[in-house]
Amino acid sequence: MKCTFIGVGDAFDEHKTNTSVLVESGNLAVLLDCGFTVPSSLFRTTPLAADIDLVLISHFHGDHFFGIPYLLGRLTSADRTKTLAFAGPEGVEDKVLAAIDLAYPSLMEKMDFTLEFIELSPDSPVLFNRMEISSASVSHSGNAIATKLECDGLSLYYSGDGVPGDNASELARGCDLMIHESWGIEEGSASHFSARQCLQFATVCECSRVALVHVYRKLRQNIENDFNAGRFAEEGLEVLLPSEGDVIHVRKDDY
Ligand SMILES: [Zn+2]
Ligand SMILES: [Zn+2]
Repeated sequence: MKCTFIGVGDAFDEHKTNTSVLVESGNLAVLLDCGFTVPSSLFRTTPLAADIDLVLISHFHGDHFFGIPYLLGRLTSADRTKTLAFAGPEGVEDKVLAAIDLAYPSLMEKMDFTLEFIELSPDSPVLFNRMEISSASVSHSGNAIATKLECDGLSLYYSGDGVPGDNASELARGCDLMIHESWGIEEGSASHFSARQCLQFATVCECSRVALVHVYRKLRQNIENDFNAGRFAEEGLEVLLPSEGDVIHVRKDDY
């Protein structure tokens, strides 16, 4: 399983693309979140952009799903014929169709491919091709979810935005890679986690690698400084601060 970081930014960072990760497993390509600024970076970064099988939406904030009209317009102009699936919290179909309708009301008629929608609900994993997708609710906005992708014996936890509760801890337990939003440095809030909380959460969940994303733009330099100075070093935990375009392979760790 391979993760390409299309973006690592928060909602309104003019220097960083909204957080989004392209996950490849075998011949399956899954995009985690598709915010306002994601598609241009996606098409710049990888030729696989045109071949995505599934877009997984963590919640319905613009920095996580308002890139979909752009994505679909671009795929339509590239003569795509393969079905594109969307997975997300309850209401995913209505939200995605509403975004398309607002942006390009006639786009659906021009598409030579069909859309498929998969509603994720905590405690009901779904199988998408060979990949099992499970979710847990997180405290953020509406019915925001964290998700776990499992394929070929490897597991990836993606936080979306939000503060994990007990179910999310269970979901994350023992995952080979955790990708977690990290809005603050030491202190989080009622709806966002901090870098320090991510490290603690990864340790409690027995994840040996954590990648910090969705860093608040006003704190990014401080977080980079702390990271480079080793202030996020934690025994038994590999902490990563990916940049746009970075690739991280999900692998079993000896830890
Ligand atoms: Zn966000
Ligand atoms: Zn959000």
